[in-house]
Amino acid sequence: MYKTIEDDVLKKAAPAALKAEFLQHEFERLHTFCVLIYLASIAVWFAYDLILSFIGNQNFTWRSLVFIGVFTILIVVLLFIRSARKFQKLNLLFVFTIALGTRLLIEGVPEDHQPAWMLLAASTTLFTASVLPLSRWAFFAAQIITWAFLNPFYDTGIETQELKGVMALSYSTFICALTIYSFMTLRKAKLYNFIMSKLLLDQAYIDTLTEIPNRRSFMTQADKQLHAVPREPDHYLAMIDIDNFKKVNDVYGHDIGDEVLKRIAQNIKAVMGHFEYARLGGEEFAIYLAGVRREDVEALAGELCRVVREQPTQHPVTISIGLAQVLEDDTLNQALIKADAALYASKHTGKDRYTFHR
Ligand code: GH3
Ligand code: MG
Ligand code: MG
Repeated sequence: MYKTIEDDVLKKAAPAALKAEFLQHEFERLHTFCVLIYLASIAVWFAYDLILSFIGNQNFTWRSLVFIGVFTILIVVLLFIRSARKFQKLNLLFVFTIALGTRLLIEGVPEDHQPAWMLLAASTTLFTASVLPLSRWAFFAAQIITWAFLNPFYDTGIETQELKGVMALSYSTFICALTIYSFMTLRKAKLYNFIMSKLLLDQAYIDTLTEIPNRRSFMTQADKQLHAVPREPDHYLAMIDIDNFKKVNDVYGHDIGDEVLKRIAQNIKAVMGHFEYARLGGEEFAIYLAGVRREDVEALAGELCRVVREQPTQHPVTISIGLAQVLEDDTLNQALIKADAALYASKHTGKDRYTFHR
């Protein structure tokens, strides 16, 4: 089964909206990791700045202070950013600043050592970028910025034809290809996992026939609302059962019965769409109404009965509803039992109506 779903996923290209959702999900999950990576990069830069200033006799200048100021601003912005799209731009600014800062540091070491340090710095930056939650364009832009500032051939006195130059060029090409390859492979694997888990979760929480939330989803969401802090003032639970549904199946067949179930699900969605609603199983549905007054609950229940009753269709049905107030110390199961008792009362007083639990 897993294999069948997997093959299906692999065949299709992910739509842009899904990729954007994936990127946002990744960024939210790795937000702390991004902060740590930035802090570590700054710490390493600062350590080298101190080494070169004091042991290398380069003097600690106002330039270092400017860089530290900019790094601090970028870290603070990152702490407050919650959107993955904004992070893509912020990261480019960060790569720009750290690559420029590193270039200036390396210019302080003897010229002979400069190309090797440029390559070391560029590969560290790119490997780090390859594990950040970046989109493809943001990663390629980071590559360009990194090589623009940490180009081992610019102003370092080596030529591409000499031994040192050939070695530097080979290594740059190797690092460039390796980081692009690992970024793309990692991204593809993570995107694929995201799509698979989303698909399986959707299937676990959506009713396949009616395509509305199922019992598992309802129990989770309603329980969350029941225990929400602060709690909305009034909570109600509605249980719905289709009247004489067995007859629909017997007279018109199971397929028409299924169509009726789908139609009722759509009626519930149309009238109660802004509350938690679900198909509990069979021909029973439930709705959890938080933050409504009793009069509104009655009006909504009456409206739902009317919409179902007056639906222009060849296979008309009616529904019965049981309503119960959910008290603060009720459990969800206790509330369901109360609503079910009220539903029973609706059935026994003529159906096609709602009854409040007393
Ligand atoms: P009442 O008015 O008292 O509710 O009578 P009823 O005939 O609706 O009785 P009941 O609620 O016991 O009937 C449930 C029926 O729903 C029995 C079963 O065949 C049918 N049913 C349950 N799940 C499905 C389904 O997925 N599709 C179809 N077509 N029928 C279903
Ligand atoms: Mg029933
Ligand atoms: Mg029924």
